[in-house]
Amino acid sequence: MTIRLFNTMSRKLEEFKPLQPGKVGFYSCGPTVYHYAHIGNLRTMIHNDILKRMFLENGFDVHHVMNITDVGHLTNDDDDTGEDKMEKGAARDNKSVWDIAKFYKDEFLRDYDDLNIMRPTDMPHATDYIAEQIELVQKLEKLGYTYEIPGDGIYYDTSKFAAYGALTGGALSGNRAGARVEFNSEKRNPTDFALWKFSPVGVRRQMEWDSPWGVGFPGWHAECSAMGMKLLGDHFDIHTGGEDLSRVHHANEIAQSEPITGAPWVRYWVHFSFLVDKSGEKMSKSSGEFLGLESVRRRGYDPMAYRYMILLGHFQTQLAFSWDAMDAAAAGYKNIVRRVADLMADAPGGQRSDDAYNAWHDRILAAVSDNMKTAEALVAVQELLRATDVNAATKIALFEFIDRLLGLQFIDRANRLRALENVAAPSEIQELAARRATAKADRDWATADNLRAEIDAAGWTVVDTRDGWKLVKKAE
Ligand code: AMP
Ligand code: ZN
Repeated sequence: MTIRLFNTMSRKLEEFKPLQPGKVGFYSCGPTVYHYAHIGNLRTMIHNDILKRMFLENGFDVHHVMNITDVGHLTNDDDDTGEDKMEKGAARDNKSVWDIAKFYKDEFLRDYDDLNIMRPTDMPHATDYIAEQIELVQKLEKLGYTYEIPGDGIYYDTSKFAAYGALTGGALSGNRAGARVEFNSEKRNPTDFALWKFSPVGVRRQMEWDSPWGVGFPGWHAECSAMGMKLLGDHFDIHTGGEDLSRVHHANEIAQSEPITGAPWVRYWVHFSFLVDKSGEKMSKSSGEFLGLESVRRRGYDPMAYRYMILLGHFQTQLAFSWDAMDAAAAGYKNIVRRVADLMADAPGGQRSDDAYNAWHDRILAAVSDNMKTAEALVAVQELLRATDVNAATKIALFEFIDRLLGLQFIDRANRLRALENVAAPSEIQELAARRATAKADRDWATADNLRAEIDAAGWTVVDTRDGWKLVKKAE
């Protein structure tokens, strides 16, 4: 099947051609573990997951690397100044840097699992690859790309790399020279960036290492180049990240890597648009005010409803989060689960039709293979549910495929729903439901509503069906 992706580098939709037949190597910039991940970060991770699942369903062998940043990311990425985000997080939480790295990584993975995001093949920590990062800087030093700012660090001279900023179409001047940020005046060019930062004199950092240039720590960008090359080889297929990363972080990764590996280091660059708030502001960890998946769970939403909401949009469009949008997504998601549960009741004994299966399978996979059009795939899912010429057994088989591709766990949730429905309600609740049915028949809506509320308060939901009412136990 044809796979097309929008490549930030060419600004075009391109047909995907793997470096090695049947294989895909892809690298995703992962979380900086100084705080909880917010639902914006998780949006990016959901899109990564769709990319991976799409390749798997197309029969590729996927090697996915996602790093864990546990050192070197300063509060001001643009000019390598400010505080180390990890040290700042540790001071806030009154813990060691190593402790917060472990704590927030575990929390991140809990969210990851709750959103049914497949774990990466490799999840390297920046602090486990210090030697590789030093080696990268040494190579760049030998090739003449570096200079030292005494008392500060080893810097990359971006004027030596002609293609600098190609990802965002910017030459040197177009990037940061015009910005009103004061840059370190000792830098040769405003876009130059730190490869290795020295520990401040007289200060012992919690994370610091010896290097040929003195005690210090790697610049944030170094880790992705060093670990990408180490784990995926000198050239690989795809590199992904949020839209904020293309201008500086990925520009710097390319500048660090291509003098060593030759161009192009990476074939396809894929950037995911932000999750924003109602006023269009990017959700960010550094603002201190953000929503984590925990807020979603605490309000009683199934994390799958959040995943469903993300997949209703396209990765190249910013998505404004609101609780109203969440309500709508949760209702839409539940509706599909309900219908899948009904199909399960009808499916046994039915014979799956291969023709219908293949036609719907190909239609849904084609939508996601075409630049990850998940919303289009979900439209097809709705049509499939309505289709009168596809039997229940075929639909259920298709939902197994849809769950592999979109990771929405429809079958699992439908099973849970059925399990709850099969619990017999106690007689007093059945009695309330029977009285409600009578009230409805008498068009006494007020009494019917009160009885529904009473049933609800007792932990049950009364559902009207074609054959009367049934009682469903509410999930804990
Ligand atoms: P961080 O933990 O801040 O290093 O970010 C981890 C990933 O989340 C990166 O790929 C970022 O580009 C991405 N990201 C950060 N903020 C958002 C947002 N509001 N919406 C979507 N992705 C984001
Ligand atoms: Zn990165």
